[in-house]
Amino acid sequence: MKFTITTSDYLTYFENTAKILMNNHKRVTELDSLLGDGDHMVNLYSGYEKVLTEKQQLIQLSFPEMLKKIGMIILSGVGGSSGLLYGSAYIACGKKFETYTDINQDNFEYFIQCMMDEIIKRGQVKPGDKTMLDSMFKALEAYKESSDCLLNERINRFKKGAIQGMYDTEIMSAQKGRGRYHATKGVGIIDAGAMTMALQMESLSDFILSKIESE
Ligand code: ADP
Ligand code: MG
Repeated sequence: MKFTITTSDYLTYFENTAKILMNNHKRVTELDSLLGDGDHMVNLYSGYEKVLTEKQQLIQLSFPEMLKKIGMIILSGVGGSSGLLYGSAYIACGKKFETYTDINQDNFEYFIQCMMDEIIKRGQVKPGDKTMLDSMFKALEAYKESSDCLLNERINRFKKGAIQGMYDTEIMSAQKGRGRYHATKGVGIIDAGAMTMALQMESLSDFILSKIESE
């Protein structure tokens, strides 16, 4: 089993994900209003819109150049922690992917690892801090632990891991982000950033699964 995600595929994934984020706008904003300042989805979605506005230029770029450009658009145009973290993660990943022309079954783990390492570095965050990292970490962990399974099963586990990582934040007490200043440190509330990360990882998984079927 195999798959390939080129520049043009990645932009299709980005379009799919923008729609999914929009469909969950209310839910995420309600959570972020309880725990944060309520603008997380506005920040993230505006990043998606800004990137998609430049689709015609982006589609001409090599895969790593596209990643870097996405990162620069997000970093310069999106506010909040998410602008800094996602922007930096895309730029770092673009640099580390300089020798690659796409994401495929052989470098997918590395792709997620690169993004995650940058979020950890920039956010000074660790698993269990009740942030976007928790969803990504659990997804990658599930993927790594299923190396003896078929690729489609591994991607399904990655997806389930992302969703589980999001739900796990409900009982966590916030160590990073605005939730730290909440009277209860947000215990009982799912972290909004973990939810949008899970939505993105879920969308990426579904995109990869559709690619595996067609290749
Ligand atoms: P802000 O914290 O500036 O209001 P956003 O509203 O854009 O930023 O995003 C909030 C989300 O960002 C949180 O729900 C959390 O998941 C994530 N987050 C905040 N601070 C950090 C951090 N230091 N490391 C990782 N993720 C973080
Ligand atoms: Mg905010």
